[in-house]
Amino acid sequence: MPDLRDLYQEVILEHSKSPRNYRELKPADHKAEGYNPLCGDRFTIYLQMDGDSICDIGFQGSGCAISKASASMMTQALKGKTKEEAEKLFHRFHEVVTGKTESHGHEAELGKLAVFAGVSEFPLRVKCATLAWHTLEAAIEGKQEAVSTE
Ligand code: ZN
Repeated sequence: MPDLRDLYQEVILEHSKSPRNYRELKPADHKAEGYNPLCGDRFTIYLQMDGDSICDIGFQGSGCAISKASASMMTQALKGKTKEEAEKLFHRFHEVVTGKTESHGHEAELGKLAVFAGVSEFPLRVKCATLAWHTLEAAIEGKQEAVSTE
């Protein structure tokens, strides 16, 4: 078992302390709420879309370091991306955090998101890492009810 310190890598801690794009977008074309009852993570994702492209993205809420850093880094990774690119990146990210694929060889595609590969050692934490992404999907699809990881 790796030490927790390996999981809470510097970059994750840094993002959880100073989250990027931590703001409500007004007005937002799309927004959705996500909740992870296992850990108590709760976030709202705000989107401004131009056709299929994400022009602006923000989030607010509270949660553990992993969930917050994941939301922060997701917003950085997705600004300017299309819906399809976002879905593809989520798919890749999900494979990495669940240990289904090695992040090795996909560093360019994942960028900094590759730091979350350590999460695969802690199955309960996978929901923390993917909460923002599930919430983003709901926001894009315009779902009204809050997303729960349960
Ligand atoms: Zn959490």
